[in-house]
Amino acid sequence: ASTAQPATSLSSSAAPSAPSSIPAPTARLQLIDEDQKFTPQLNDRLSQWGLQDAGFGYDLCAVLGSQSTGKSTLLNKLFGTTFDVMDETRRQQTTKGIWMCRGQAMNVLVMDVEGTDGRERGEDQDFERKSALFSMASAECLIVNMWEHQVGLYQGANMALLKTVFEVNLGLFQAAKGSSASKDKTLLCFVIRDHIGNTPLENLQNTILADLRRIWDSLSKPEGLEQSTIDTFFDFTFVTLPHKILQPAEFDAQVNQLRARFVDSSRKDFIFKPEYHKRIPADGLPHYLGSIWEQVQTNKDLDLPTQQELLAQFRCDEIAAAAFTVFALAVKVFRRPIEQGEVLADLGVLMGKHRGVAVAEFDKAASRYHADVYRRKRSDLLEKLNSTLSPFYLGQLKNLHKSILAAFKASVLDKLRGEGYDFASVVSTERERALTTFEKNADHMCLDETDWSYEDELDQLRVNITEIADQCRREETKKMVLQIERNVKRDLAEPTELALSRPQPDMWDRILSNFSATLDKAEVAYLRKAKSFSCTDEENEKALRTLKRRSWLVLRAKIDEQTADSVLITKLRGAFEDRFRYDEAGVPRVWRPEDDIDGLFRVARDETLALIPLYSRIAPQDSSKAVELPSTSDDPESAHAVARGEEEDFDFPASLVVFSETRKAELGARFRKEADAYYVEAKRSTVSTMAQ
Ligand code: GDP
Ligand code: MG
Repeated sequence: ASTAQPATSLSSSAAPSAPSSIPAPTARLQLIDEDQKFTPQLNDRLSQWGLQDAGFGYDLCAVLGSQSTGKSTLLNKLFGTTFDVMDETRRQQTTKGIWMCRGQAMNVLVMDVEGTDGRERGEDQDFERKSALFSMASAECLIVNMWEHQVGLYQGANMALLKTVFEVNLGLFQAAKGSSASKDKTLLCFVIRDHIGNTPLENLQNTILADLRRIWDSLSKPEGLEQSTIDTFFDFTFVTLPHKILQPAEFDAQVNQLRARFVDSSRKDFIFKPEYHKRIPADGLPHYLGSIWEQVQTNKDLDLPTQQELLAQFRCDEIAAAAFTVFALAVKVFRRPIEQGEVLADLGVLMGKHRGVAVAEFDKAASRYHADVYRRKRSDLLEKLNSTLSPFYLGQLKNLHKSILAAFKASVLDKLRGEGYDFASVVSTERERALTTFEKNADHMCLDETDWSYEDELDQLRVNITEIADQCRREETKKMVLQIERNVKRDLAEPTELALSRPQPDMWDRILSNFSATLDKAEVAYLRKAKSFSCTDEENEKALRTLKRRSWLVLRAKIDEQTADSVLITKLRGAFEDRFRYDEAGVPRVWRPEDDIDGLFRVARDETLALIPLYSRIAPQDSSKAVELPSTSDDPESAHAVARGEEEDFDFPASLVVFSETRKAELGARFRKEADAYYVEAKRSTVSTMAQ
């Protein structure tokens, strides 16, 4: 009801082609226009009619019959639709095409065909055929409208139209031959208008049925359908209506009765029985009807099952895409934190939730479509959802791995800082904890219906844990060895100093005995501790070799310290003084002239000089006290380590030499000078004694 209506529209309803105004809910829609174009507006109109989400909860009926037999009038009365009705006073033409309107207060879509009365004029049979085909492919019930006086006119326009309907129907099912046709039955509801009442309904009905069977028999059936009867595809129901103008009250009453049959599903004679439903969900109607019309137009074989499958593919794709868009937006938030290494606590739950929502969204709309297609598209969607989520899963596994590894390391190091721990049990406890935590978390974020697995990551975690444990063990072993070395150093220091400061022929025997005892103690200490580190035999061997060598070097350092020039000279001086300035009883000598200063001096000097070779080489008197250590050159592995700069070269025989021949001579000369000074001083002291 607006001024924007096109001039051609003669009805009181809003024109669907006026985009500026929203049509009234009862407004009809021109589904197929004069140019045989399918409307793009059906989607919007279904929404306006509140049927978009109706699923299968709607019914569709169409009407067939000659022009001006009161079809539109009947539909409007029955369903409260607003189709154009021929205005008798002006006899103007209604707008050609196929119209659709929603029934008032009922989930019924009604289609009305407006053509020219082509058959009488021998024209437009093409459109009549197309619209019959189109109606047949979608409607549960076809109302066949005819005057009572047309009944039995086997050659008349009505029968020609019905012949078309049957032909068309056979064509529709040609491709589906063999499949159970019963589920695709259509109800033909014959409405006999202007019934005078002389001929009872039953007679009219029999006449029509006889005619129908005759037509059916005359049709050439496609292969596979030769044996089919008219009842294979159709159910029939017959209704008479009185003359609308002559008996308006009766007319209205009987139309009302007929309406009840369209509305009341509890009635035995309910028109829209479920088995007539074409199983096109309401949201798929625009695409379905559009493509059916396209097929009709291009005059292709119309194969309904294929059409339904195509529709299912199209709609399932659309529905999946819509669900996926929402899903993709929702899960986008995971990307950044995971890329930044975070471990999201509820990732699994959230991923499962978003995936569930998407699948549920899909199921809700798509499950109404062709079952096989729906199942296939559902698993496609699921796969797409999973593969979108999979990088999050894998990324988080990596992050989890990293954080658990870091926690493992921190925790182990923390415990190792404490006292009285057992390394092996610290590591095994922490390792167990780390692996369990990983598995628990990884399980938690894994989704069902995926091929996701965390085994590889878990294996890698195991490897990395072992690496860290090994590294810690090496550090700990090193720490322990250092501690043992400190003890060695301490145990070697005093006895060695003592022995070196009182040079005796068995000086080296004592030093080496002490060294051996110290080393034995150190080895025992090492082996006791090494057990807790579960070191390999090879590692133990290497560590002990190093320990021996380092201990030896400690000893050698001590010896070097104690035999440094000034220290050694002091020692020699001491030894000489003991001999020269003290008598056998240890009492200081006071030189008298009769003393044999020269003789005593020579003895003391020579005995002291004899100590220099003793000091110069580590050589025990008793060869059983000798220590034997391998040189680095003895062992190819050590030799390589030296070549790589990882180990210092160690030459054991060379290390036995405390000082060289040259130094021996130098020391001798230096000592002689000092001794000479003592001799002069002794001589001088006798002179001064005599002078007193
Ligand atoms: P349609 O072309 O089949 O849709 O017919 P319409 O509904 O437009 O009606 C055509 C003419 O028939 C109009 O003038 C109506 O008033 C008239 N008409 C409608 N119903 C009846 C009826 O039951 N009996 C008679 N005789 N005329 C009717
Ligand atoms: Mg009409």
